[in-house]
Amino acid sequence: MIPVRCGEIAEAVHGELAGVDPAAVVDGAVVIDSRAAGPGGLFVALPGERVDGHDYVGTATAAGVTVSLTTRPIDGCPCIVVADAQRALGDLARLVISRLPGLTVIGLTGSSGKTSTKDLIAQLIRPYGETVAPEGSFNNELGHPLTALQATESTKFLVAEMGARHAGDIVYLSGITPPQVGLVLNVGTSHIGEFGSQDNIAQAKGELIEAVRPGGTAVLNADDPRVAAMASRTEQRVLTFGEAEAADVRATDLTLDGEGRPSFTLRIGDFAGAVQLNYVGEHYVSNALGAAAIGYALGLTPEQLATGLTAATPVSAARMEVVERADGVTIINDAFNANPDSTRAALKALVAIGRSRGARTWAVLGEMLELGETSAEQHDGIGRLVVRLDVNRLLVIGPGAKPIHLGASLEGSWGDESAYVDTIPEGLEFLRGELRKGDVVLVKSSKGSKLRSLAEALIEEV
Ligand code: ATP
Ligand code: MG
Repeated sequence: MIPVRCGEIAEAVHGELAGVDPAAVVDGAVVIDSRAAGPGGLFVALPGERVDGHDYVGTATAAGVTVSLTTRPIDGCPCIVVADAQRALGDLARLVISRLPGLTVIGLTGSSGKTSTKDLIAQLIRPYGETVAPEGSFNNELGHPLTALQATESTKFLVAEMGARHAGDIVYLSGITPPQVGLVLNVGTSHIGEFGSQDNIAQAKGELIEAVRPGGTAVLNADDPRVAAMASRTEQRVLTFGEAEAADVRATDLTLDGEGRPSFTLRIGDFAGAVQLNYVGEHYVSNALGAAAIGYALGLTPEQLATGLTAATPVSAARMEVVERADGVTIINDAFNANPDSTRAALKALVAIGRSRGARTWAVLGEMLELGETSAEQHDGIGRLVVRLDVNRLLVIGPGAKPIHLGASLEGSWGDESAYVDTIPEGLEFLRGELRKGDVVLVKSSKGSKLRSLAEALIEEV
């Protein structure tokens, strides 16, 4: 963290100094895990479900932290005592960001593709300035401020992924890092159980657009009507992206190659340049265009964008990760997460790969969580789509996903082509007996349905 005195921190977080000199400086890492604590740092003692961070303040102090953020004084340990340590972490990050006038914050949200797009943006802009981007999917009230605190005077760009489960979540996160550029990717149905409707989800995602700083840019998906409509929620410049003719940053001539990777012509004004993505699935076109629009808003040239997109490679695991096993079976591990939109896109990529190889295709699907009342219907719809896309075999795992199996059976009068099992071990056993050389197997479910463990077991066992 940039150097800040404890007295200033206490003021920013509305805390009381306990056993610490106000002039003592924090200039090391801010951590919530005492094992990562080090000299000059700051340890945040969070109450956990199983462990209480306050039990580790001594360890952090011994490791050399200048101070800990706690909700009670701890004997012999320098502390700043606050009412809510998580809020205090946010307040500290807000203070640090306000002290970095040379920093450009890029905030992004959406129902799917945030992490993938964040990684793309970071790869595009890193050659043009020191960039801080969270590792993985650090998008909540903890991960977001911890990421922001990594920015220093030499950081030019901060790429912040922001997730929303409730109205107001993005107001909070974007208040910590007010964005110069704000991007909304899409409004799908994830967390619809909590939000009630897609319009409520749009309302919450659009909070990011309202937070764009004066003189900044809102970047909106022209292909998603709920996102495009967010233009009315800002006075700042709006840049749009998509396949729609009216979009400022467009893709035309979209094709998928035999490995399921999209190519397209990137069009910005009079510019037209070829892009070949190293990502599997046509949903990455939208992510790539969103990233390109961000780069364009930051002043990169269309040529730099086309070259950068073609050079970018996937960095986050379990998102359309294609692994060829020694026995000739190909596993597409997309089990990091799932919702109906991303499942449709993954199935299309599976079919493109299968067709180019003349291979037998398998969809191994678990439950898509948080769909609320529409859950059974949406699962049924995916089952029918599996049949209509001509996927060859289907394995459905877990009671919540069963309507996929039923939908497929009704749509296609399928018999043995579709199977259902209750548990992951049963699914693994079934696949061991069925998979043969040449098969291409897509594994996808929501995080909570845990098919990632099945995908990893399938990958590792040969
Ligand atoms: P989370 O809310 O869990 O942080 P995320 O929004 O960060 O998710 P990713 O981790 O990038 O999203 O991708 C999650 C899943 O969505 C992956 O299976 C990926 O293939 C799929 N996906 C990525 N981009 C899109 C998109 N533009 N539209 C639909 N699905 C997408
Ligand atoms: Mg994410």
